[in-house]
Amino acid sequence: MIFQDINKNKKNKNFAYFVALTVAPVLAIVVMFSYAFFHIRDSVKFTSHEITGLRVIAQIERTVFNIQKLRGLICTEDADEKSTEYIKNIKEDISKDLAILKEYSAFIENDTSFKNEILKYIDSLGNPYLLEYTNYYYLTEVIHDFMKFSNRLSYHCKLVLDPNMNSYVLIDNVVFLLPELIEYNGQIRAVTSSTQNSVLVTNQREYIGTQENKIKEKLEKLNYNLSRYYENRDSDKIKEVHNGALKAQDAIIGLANNKFLSGENLSYEASEIYNIATKNIEFIIDLYNENLKNLNDILEKRLNKDREISIFIILAGFCSILFIIFINVLFYRRNRKFINKIEELTITDAMTTLHNRRYFDLVFDNLLKAQKRARQTLAFVIVDIDNFKQYNDTYGHQAGDEALKAVANCLKNSLKREGDFAFRLGGEEFGVLCTGLDDSQAFDFADGIRKKVEEEKIEHKKSTASKYVTISMGLIVIKPELINSVNDVYRCADEALYRAKENGRNKVVVYNEMQ
Ligand code: GH3
Ligand code: MG
Ligand code: MG
Repeated sequence: MIFQDINKNKKNKNFAYFVALTVAPVLAIVVMFSYAFFHIRDSVKFTSHEITGLRVIAQIERTVFNIQKLRGLICTEDADEKSTEYIKNIKEDISKDLAILKEYSAFIENDTSFKNEILKYIDSLGNPYLLEYTNYYYLTEVIHDFMKFSNRLSYHCKLVLDPNMNSYVLIDNVVFLLPELIEYNGQIRAVTSSTQNSVLVTNQREYIGTQENKIKEKLEKLNYNLSRYYENRDSDKIKEVHNGALKAQDAIIGLANNKFLSGENLSYEASEIYNIATKNIEFIIDLYNENLKNLNDILEKRLNKDREISIFIILAGFCSILFIIFINVLFYRRNRKFINKIEELTITDAMTTLHNRRYFDLVFDNLLKAQKRARQTLAFVIVDIDNFKQYNDTYGHQAGDEALKAVANCLKNSLKREGDFAFRLGGEEFGVLCTGLDDSQAFDFADGIRKKVEEEKIEHKKSTASKYVTISMGLIVIKPELINSVNDVYRCADEALYRAKENGRNKVVVYNEMQ
């Protein structure tokens, strides 16, 4: 039991080292990977945020396209049955657009006041006034309001900058340039559709001229943005749509300029410009959609990559932790064997292979306490070889060593239980500790050892006690209630041994008998 106690203590200590060696690196890895994971998670959140924002912006733009169509239609003077029907359909489309937009904008995060503002605005547009009594100026106002919203959203959802703090040219196109181009073309179309006999009056021509200048300015910016985009990407499709839109745009600028410069007052110029502007808008919408698709692809790709990285980080972190634990367990197990061996050597007497004095000092005190707790007796015997000096002198030191080993074996072979120990206390002196024996059992046990040694029949001509090598023993049986200090016990047993020597050697003397 005491032996188990000591081993348990050692194991606890080793386990503490093992935990320190394993837990520290595991903690370091957990901290490192958690940091990386949360970093990537923020990036995922950033991109998700952008994608939501982009979705709302695209829906705003779809709504604006339809409002522009409606505005174009209500400006046409000669409304017939067909166009009335068409207006009705467009209004229905706008209602649907507003419902979708409301749904999308509900997902705007962080800024609830901004979200509520958009939702409230959409609700106000849903009232019958917009759909029944619209006019050109009112709708133009609504279009501008929506553009402002989409502009604010692009900042709110951090769409304007990519994670490397470069501005997104595609965002710039989707949020600003293309909707503005559509609006300018839309305004040209609106002017041309409200002419009398399809003839433009001077201020209408001037107005168209102003819009054309704005278009030119926006086109320059658009071309710059896209040329930057083409530098890094394979972008055939968007290039094609871009060229289409440019040609159409050149056509309206060219046509209007030529007509205005030549001062012609042809009666069909308005409808001609109207048709070109309508076509133009279609081209720009194509470019808008292509631009949006590219942007979405880029963001989705980034999102997926970040998600893959975060899964990789979790897996790599988990594997690293497993690896560290595995290495440590392996290391611990391999070294455990050596450590056990070394520990065994430090408590063993090399010559006799009995426990040494060091271990005796350690065990004796613990065993005394344990026996006191368990209310059991503890027998302690000091063993000393008789006339051993003479033996050495007679048979030589080498033979003396062999005799020592033989006595040690007798002691060892006499031990019956796990809690019994035999020690070499020094020189030709030994100690035996034995638990749970009463006085007579202890005496029989000790005397049995004595006989065993004598029965080895190791010749000792010069012994005063026998013709063979013999031992004298001082025995003390310690009752649990009388257990004192180790020193007291040792002194008593030594006294008994002294008495045994005095009384002729080859004897067991019990300490109690002396009193
Ligand atoms: P007693 O019966 O009174 O014990 O007499 P003794 O001669 O045994 O006692 P003493 O203390 O006078 O002598 C002990 C001897 O044991 C002296 C020493 O040479 C011998 N001895 C001690 N250790 C060893 C050892 O490791 N090997 C050998 N061969 N002899 C040893
Ligand atoms: Mg001695
Ligand atoms: Mg001796």
